[in-house]
Amino acid sequence: MTWKEVKELLTNTDLVIIPTGSTEQHGPHLPLSTDSLIAQAVSIRVGKLIDAPIFPVLDIGHSIEHLSFPGSISYTPETMLAVIRDISTSLTTHGFKHLVFINGHGGNNAVLELSIQWIRNNLKFWAYLFNIGEIAQEKWNKSKIGAQDNPRKVLHADKIETSMVLSIAPDKVKQTRIVPKSGKNKTKILESSFIGSLGWNAKDMGDSGVIGDPTGATSLEGSALLDHVATRISKGIKSAQKSW
Ligand SMILES: [Zn+2]
Repeated sequence: MTWKEVKELLTNTDLVIIPTGSTEQHGPHLPLSTDSLIAQAVSIRVGKLIDAPIFPVLDIGHSIEHLSFPGSISYTPETMLAVIRDISTSLTTHGFKHLVFINGHGGNNAVLELSIQWIRNNLKFWAYLFNIGEIAQEKWNKSKIGAQDNPRKVLHADKIETSMVLSIAPDKVKQTRIVPKSGKNKTKILESSFIGSLGWNAKDMGDSGVIGDPTGATSLEGSALLDHVATRISKGIKSAQKSW
């Protein structure tokens, strides 16, 4: 895309989508880029539904809980906040008024929550955050296959993410390496409906890096989930637009 094309886009919309992902372990069967692939796929769908441009995916996030697995890298919260602050500040002179973060990695949530408050109060943009995991989980728990899983607070490289990557980039899924369950669980409380929050590390959940169960994942379920999440986010943006 050229700057002229961006300028042209700005005559139709003042909203930009910023997908946020990560580079972190996703078990023995999914790529390090899983969250980025998912954030991008959902963002492309939303972009089509609401006719808005999409920023290149931010493929490093806050992934401190996965650093004990090779290949995982993480910003500190301060760095990530600074990166988002700089990106948002760069967009202030172009005419964008609404920044929509579509997030594929749960570990980014806390920093992104701080970021949207910072943006709104320092740059006067309207800033929005949508967490793909939460929206997908809500749908999954109601589905035929999902109902067999216990709703958990933390899931990672499970059926949801595996199904989505099977739909987006099947060649990146190492199907023969899918393991039924994530071995030992040192902290069962993270899988329960514990009322509080708890600091955790992926190794607390087992040695494979998988949290939850990826077996039975299908590309069909993945496409349905991606479509569902994108539709929910688009409706959310449209309803917010009505209130401006
Ligand atoms: Zn993930």
